[in-house]
Amino acid sequence: MEKDFIKVGGVETFSTVDFPDKIAAVIFMQGCPWRCPFCHNAVLQDTDCDSGFIWEKFVEFLQTRRKILDGVVFSGGEPLMQNGLESAIREVKDLGFLIGLHTGGYRPQHLKKVLPLIDWVGFDIKALLEENKYGRAIGCFSQTYLMKVRESLQILLESGVDFECRTTCDPRILSIKDIKDIAEELSRIGVKKYFLQKYRPVESDKTTSDCDCEQFFCDKNLIAALKAQFEVFDIRK
Ligand code: SF4
Repeated sequence: MEKDFIKVGGVETFSTVDFPDKIAAVIFMQGCPWRCPFCHNAVLQDTDCDSGFIWEKFVEFLQTRRKILDGVVFSGGEPLMQNGLESAIREVKDLGFLIGLHTGGYRPQHLKKVLPLIDWVGFDIKALLEENKYGRAIGCFSQTYLMKVRESLQILLESGVDFECRTTCDPRILSIKDIKDIAEELSRIGVKKYFLQKYRPVESDKTTSDCDCEQFFCDKNLIAALKAQFEVFDIRK
């Protein structure tokens, strides 16, 4: 049977920040169904774009890194778009690496299929799980997308696989109240690890100041509440 195609948009050969407590390589999948206004990987959005990166070359590289790297993170773009994800993960796992996955939860059934192979998931929560707010954050208004995110999160919670939720605090689309509401819902459904990520203005954003971006982290009440709500909470700047 012909192997499902996997489309690589880029590679980071050495990272200490993409897989908690692990040294990892990161492979960025080409293609994303969403258009988040804060996206710094816009070049990875177009499914048809040819980056020139080849999967087999990445595997060859990994063979030389067995005693140097702990793991490999499949990131994006949106890795769950790739039909070849499962076989790609198996190939990397067979080399002895731990597997991390960064996803926004697109295609829950695909997530369910690959989860038994995965050691850790970084799950993006873009906004409060409500149609208008989520639509604004992912740049696409669709009840279906929101249902997929909810379903994926539920699958993740039930799987027992280690995971974190994280939110990029873009002040153009999120308020402090939004973060409080997101955290409340995540905590209620059983999420244990939550991270806030600082938004760094994209090139087209000429008006958001650093002070706007910092407001979430300066709010002592918010930070205290988040620390109390989760077993693990932190800020990534
Ligand atoms: S899901 Fe990620 S890759 Fe896709 S548009 Fe949003 S930030 Fe960019």
